[in-house]
Amino acid sequence: MNENQVDVVGVIGAGTMGNGISHVFALAGIDVVLVDAVPEALDRARANIEKNLSRQLSKNRIDAAGARAALDRVRTETDLESVASAPLVVEAVPENRDLKFEIFGRLDEVCDEQAVLASNTSSISITEIARSVSRPQRFIGMHFMNPVPVMQLVEVIRGLETDDETTELTLALCRRVGKTPVEVNDFPGFVSNRILMPMINEAVFCLLEGVAEAEAIDTVMKLGMNHPLGPLALADLIGLDTCLFIMQVLHRDLGDSKYRPCPLLTKYVAAGRLGRKAGRGFYEYGDA
Ligand code: NAD
Repeated sequence: MNENQVDVVGVIGAGTMGNGISHVFALAGIDVVLVDAVPEALDRARANIEKNLSRQLSKNRIDAAGARAALDRVRTETDLESVASAPLVVEAVPENRDLKFEIFGRLDEVCDEQAVLASNTSSISITEIARSVSRPQRFIGMHFMNPVPVMQLVEVIRGLETDDETTELTLALCRRVGKTPVEVNDFPGFVSNRILMPMINEAVFCLLEGVAEAEAIDTVMKLGMNHPLGPLALADLIGLDTCLFIMQVLHRDLGDSKYRPCPLLTKYVAAGRLGRKAGRGFYEYGDA
């Protein structure tokens, strides 16, 4: 199978990432079967896809017929078996090991044995999730970035058993939908979070130790390093609970004390100051 023979993909989980992933495939002319356990999540996902397509239309990035056709290509379902005929299924359910194991165990039963099964996990080992299927050579990580329709990168993660054919197909498919894939091997945090999260964690240490105020730390990184957002503002956007979870994975799985989560990050999460979504993190947000 080559990338042009992939005429339909299954997407499991219609949240933040699942609706973006569906959007990108549909806009590239590929039918999408989007599955979520919660019917209201499917309604929200369709509304979000429509809104984001309209935004692209208003910026003249796509035309009206293309936007309409893309929306028509997305079919929503609540039953996992609806993806049975898809040659590729991308999972985007919450970051929970047991849940991902359960979903892939079921997908392994319903999908064709040649189908590629991919996870959008940001921190769980691809090699480990692949243990839940009988085809670890056809299992791969497709780590899309948020917001998916906007961000260029897909980190394509090879598990220990992932074969060359699966990797090549996945890389080619990313290119077909207009993304730039980067192939990496399966290690905790892959490349993106292995580098990003310790940088954020170090910024929190700077705040804890009184090296500078939050705004000053972010300004140094924005104006000095040309980062579009400072690390503390970025942490608020990602969610401090997510940042802490990924630091804990790096610390546990790499076993090096340099990855210890900053106690101030732990304290903010304990207090419910989770960032933008909670209205408060390192900054205050009136609009949450
Ligand atoms: P989310 O919470 O926004 O969406 C998850 C969706 O999965 C929800 O709609 C939920 O109803 C659905 N779901 C839960 N259990 C299900 C089941 N058994 N069957 C079908 N659907 C089910 O999560 P998200 O932010 O989109 O993250 C999804 C994955 O992508 C996670 O693994 C996360 O680590 C990863 N990721 C997230 C981001 C990000 O910035 N949000 C970036 C990169 C990767």
